[in-house]
This record gives sequence, C-alpha cells and structure tokens, in this order.
Amino acid sequence: MTTLEDCRALDAQDPLRPLRDQFTLPEGVIYLDGNSLGVLPTAAPARIAEVVTLEWGQGLIRSWNTASWFDLPQRLGDKVARLIGAAPGEVVCTDSTSVNLYKVLFAALSQQKDTGRKLVVSERSNFPTDLYIAESLCRERGFTLKLIEADELQGPGSVLTDEVAVLMLTHVNYRTGAMHDMKAITAAAHAAGALTVWDLAHSAGAVPVALNESNADYAIGCGYKYLNGGPGAPAFAWVHTRHAGRFEQPLSGWWGHAAPFEFTPHYRPAPGVGRYLCGTQPIIALAGLECGLDTVLAAEAFDKDQGAMAALRAKSLALTDLFIELVEERCAGQGLALVTPREHAQRGSQVCLSRGEGAYAIVQALIARDVIGDYRAGDSQMPDILRFGFTPLYIGFEDVWNAVEHLVQVLESGEWKREEFNRKNAVT
Ligand SMILES: *Cc1c(COP(=O)(O)O)cnc(C)c1O
Repeated sequence: MTTLEDCRALDAQDPLRPLRDQFTLPEGVIYLDGNSLGVLPTAAPARIAEVVTLEWGQGLIRSWNTASWFDLPQRLGDKVARLIGAAPGEVVCTDSTSVNLYKVLFAALSQQKDTGRKLVVSERSNFPTDLYIAESLCRERGFTLKLIEADELQGPGSVLTDEVAVLMLTHVNYRTGAMHDMKAITAAAHAAGALTVWDLAHSAGAVPVALNESNADYAIGCGYKYLNGGPGAPAFAWVHTRHAGRFEQPLSGWWGHAAPFEFTPHYRPAPGVGRYLCGTQPIIALAGLECGLDTVLAAEAFDKDQGAMAALRAKSLALTDLFIELVEERCAGQGLALVTPREHAQRGSQVCLSRGEGAYAIVQALIARDVIGDYRAGDSQMPDILRFGFTPLYIGFEDVWNAVEHLVQVLESGEWKREEFNRKNAVT
C-alpha cells in the first residue's frame, strides 16, 4: 500500500518537478481540471501585456510585419506539430475546435463526394459539439450521420463498410478517458475506403500522438485544455501532406488566400495548411496560446529523442495509476466505479469515476476543499461521472494523495449531502 511518505519520495525523485514552476496556481489548490481549462503560465500576463502595450500600442499596424503577427498561426502550428507527431508546416493555430471541425469535416466530405459513400460514422459518446457540427454538415451536404459504440469499429461486424465516407472520432473520450488506437483504426478505415477525422481535444499535450505515423487524414484539437493557452484560446488544424495541396475549405476567407494582399476578386487557396485560415487572427489570444505551448514544450529537455510527450506520458501514467490504486483502496464500499480503462494503451490523462448518486455534489464538496475536478452527466449506459484530469506539468504525487484524502473525507462524512453542494451551476 502506497503511503503519504511514498508519495513525497516520488515527488522528490521526479525529474519533471521543476516544470511546475512555470505556472501560477492559487495557493493550496489541487487542480485536477487541466483537461477542461489549463492553468495560467507565469509568463503569460507579462507577454500578453507586452503584445498590448508595445506591439499594439507602439507598433500599431507595423506590428503585422515587425512583430511577425502575420506568421503567428503557422509559427504556433509548428510548435503544436512537435506534440502530435506532425512535421513543421503541417499545422495552423486558428479559430475554435468547433469551427475547425466544420472545416476539416467539410474537406473530407468534399473529397468523398463522388464515391457514392453517404455515411459519416462517429461515436454516440463523442463530445456533443462534434456531433452537432457533423449533424448540420451532413444535412447540408447530403450525408447521413451514423452513431455507434466504440466496439462496433473492429471485428467481423464492423460498421466500416463501403458506405462510409468519413470516420470522425475523438481520440480520447472526454467523459471516460478511454483512448482509441489511432493507427489500427485509421488502417481499418482506410481498408474500407473511408477517410479519418481525429479530434485531439483531450490528447494534445496529454498523451503522445503520432498523426503521420498513424497515416491519419485530418485532425483538429483544442488550445485551452492541456495546452494551457487560456480560456477560449485558438485551436489547431492539421491535414496529411497527401491532401494538403488540394483540400477544400468552406470558409474561404482572405487569410486563406494564396496572396491576400493582392486583393483580387476571386479566391485562390494558399498552397498548404495556410488555406485553413479564414479571417484576421486574434493576435492577443495567440500570444497567450504560445505561452501555454511553451510550458509543454519545456518537457522536451527531459527526453531529447522522443520529445516532450514521451517524458510527460510516463509521469501521467504513474499519477493516474496511483490515483486509481488509492481510490480503490481507500474509498472501497463507497459506491465509486472506475470508468477509465486500466490498460495504459487505452487510457488518456484523466481518471473518471462513476457513482449512482451524488456525483455532482461530491465534486462540489471537493471544490469547496480546493480540490478542483469536474462532473459530467451520465446517460442510459452509464451513471454520472466525477472526472479528474492529471497534468504532469504541475500535478505531483503528494497532490494525488491529498486529493484522495479529501475524497475519502467527503464520502465518509456525508458532507456532500449538504444542500449547498446540490445546487447546479450554469457551467459544470
Ligand atoms: C473541449 C472539446 C471541444 C471544444 O470545442 P470549442 O469549439 O472549443 O468549444 C470540442 N470537441 C471536443 C472533443 C472537446 O473535448
């Protein structure tokens, strides 16, 4: 059985411990919600102030050139590429995850429009915005969205038939923390003649991703979760180089034009991923995102061969393993069930526990004790969920111990039953 002393020893031996100094966290808070909103990089306030007061205030319009504002989506895209197994020039940071999904799914559907394939396949348990965007695009473009369970993807009864145009999946499930085998599923989709669209919202900065090695087609991801880019930070979009020069982007704004400052009356798309851009970019928000990306890339120093995510993954698994072990030992008989897969290859960087009753209130009681996780409503297949994200950049082993200690106290005392913890807020 792991003890508090063991946890302290693990922190003392942890080579990644100094990475925590890159962040400004409120005193005493154990933050297990970096999967929803990453924490503030200490460098961000000064950098954002510099962009505002110097680059905007003094540089004014000149800063598009002198402060390299114009290249920012590509320059940050190159940084993201290092975290998702892509190459420089293959990624841009722009727009929101939802908008980028619209663009990449449209592109994939356009590529398949003459094949007679009519189905877009996704998981019923996918993040709702992905399904909503797919629903409207399918309606607009004459496709049908087919929702499936994860176990229908492989094996003899696989839904991947010659009717499928696009398989659109989120790599790590937001609610359960279950992770797909991107390479195997992409190969199965390709064998069936389908293109793949991967949402990396809970993967980028959380787990190693190998887009090129997996031979994926399209991918998007979120800037404000594990990438610490700040609330509503720009998201990113990637496309495999085999499609890069020919994919069709529906939001054909001037920033995706081959020569925006020629001001010609007709659209001519930029040669590569530059065509993913639509309009003028949010420079202040991009500056915040860069600070976040740099906090993750700082982990490259700890694994010079495999990169930042390899170093972070080892610690992430150790943290989630420890949390699972301590919860099972110390909260036994309290009605909690592990939802996240135990197998490392199938686990993201979060641990989700379900409980038939009180999940929301337990999370609220924990938040009142400065242990911040979150709650996600269950459905017909699964009870309500308590969700805990583990960001190895700033979470330590003693934090895991303390979080479980608070959970034990909240459950054993029945504290969560208090009325104040059972009132629902607008944002959960
Ligand atoms: C967080 C998340 C989003 C967020 O989309 P926004 O456009 O930033 O609101 C989309 N998809 C998935 C799978 C997510 O986890």
